[in-house]
Amino acid sequence: MSIVKEFKEQCETPLRKLREVADAMKVEMHAGLDSEGASRMLKMLITYVQNLPTGDEKGLFYALDLGGTNIRALRVHLGGKEEATSLAKFVSSEPEDFHPPPGRQRELGFTFSFPVRQTSIVSGTLIKWTKSFNIEGLVGEDVVRELTKSMEKIGLDMRVAALVNDTVGTLARARFSNQDVIVGVIFGTGTNAAYVEHAHAIPKWHGLVPKSGEMVINTEWGDFCSIHLPLTEYDQALDAETINPGEQIFEKVISGMYLGDIVRRALLKMAEEADFFGDTVPPKLAIPFILKAYDMAAMNHDSSSDLKVVGNRLRDIFEIHNTSLEVRKIVVELCDIVVIRAARLAAAGIFGLLQKTGRDKVKVGEQQRSVIALDGGLFEQYPKFRTCLESTLKELLGVEAAETIVIEHSQDGSGIGAALLAASHSQYL
Ligand code: ADP
Repeated sequence: MSIVKEFKEQCETPLRKLREVADAMKVEMHAGLDSEGASRMLKMLITYVQNLPTGDEKGLFYALDLGGTNIRALRVHLGGKEEATSLAKFVSSEPEDFHPPPGRQRELGFTFSFPVRQTSIVSGTLIKWTKSFNIEGLVGEDVVRELTKSMEKIGLDMRVAALVNDTVGTLARARFSNQDVIVGVIFGTGTNAAYVEHAHAIPKWHGLVPKSGEMVINTEWGDFCSIHLPLTEYDQALDAETINPGEQIFEKVISGMYLGDIVRRALLKMAEEADFFGDTVPPKLAIPFILKAYDMAAMNHDSSSDLKVVGNRLRDIFEIHNTSLEVRKIVVELCDIVVIRAARLAAAGIFGLLQKTGRDKVKVGEQQRSVIALDGGLFEQYPKFRTCLESTLKELLGVEAAETIVIEHSQDGSGIGAALLAASHSQYL
């Protein structure tokens, strides 16, 4: 119990700490916008998205969404506002109707969920891999050129019309239906956020001021780190064993890829030092990443009186049999500690972003409404994460400001948003 108690204390996130995290985030955001490399952690990448969807986009567009876990190919039929409900038609075959007329090329929005330094809306070089991706020889290369070469090789006549980060896609998808959307956030395998910035607030932007006066910025906040982050020995050990030690620290305490492994490391220590599972240490407990976020969610939401789900998962994943109710309760407590810390820090990140944009306060005489579009498996499928994130954001904002902020799920936003941006950057416009 002393291991659990110590872990719990180290993971605590009182509001004071969350405010410090948010403030540090805001400071880094300013630095990142100033000049390239001014912030060691927040890249604040210029996306070249100067026009977000209006809701009037029409036509047939494609999207290829390369995430951390899933790759999705989409065909999106945009019908303009009147048909907004039938925005997306996912189909796997390509019947005649979808063939483009002679002389017209298919156009693709390419969602690429890794840090890319864009040089235009259709080009950008990969800065580094994150999550578990590590394909050799691609860092420093233009990802659109690589994709185009591959498409040519297999005889696929398609033009990439927009290269977008998944957070930008999420923002664009939500903006199509609601013009109050200003932030797009992903909590999936990894985590990241994009938001709409005033062009004049980006000193490092030397191009023409966009007509809209706005530019979407990809924060790459997964790489954020601060002395205010409540990190434990388990986080440090986990970080050391990843493909990118010392990097993406915010992501490693928040996102779906890592949460289960933090719990596993705490359990392993308890087994080794306190015989938590009896006098032998179950060998499977030593396998990195064997406990997934969805297992953790299932255990965390087990409402049976004997915590049957927890018992079954411990048996199926770790081959630990006949666990007592007491043991199961402690496992649930560990899941709680880890997911609550993640959700509260996630809320601090959003709060920092709202502070940066001045949307964290109600302005006298203004009826401002700000919508934050969220997507990703962790947000979608881990109710405890979602509800804790929402309630913590309210705590940080206070009652009055909280009424002006709306959190919205941007379903399949990353892919559909990319198709929308392909539409607004079509060569046939
Ligand atoms: P990606 O981030 O790869 O684009 P998703 O947004 O679908 O893909 O997120 C997938 C991630 O979401 C998984 O890696 C996992 O961490 C998390 N996840 C998926 N299902 C669940 C679940 N039921 N409970 C908690 N987390 C989940």
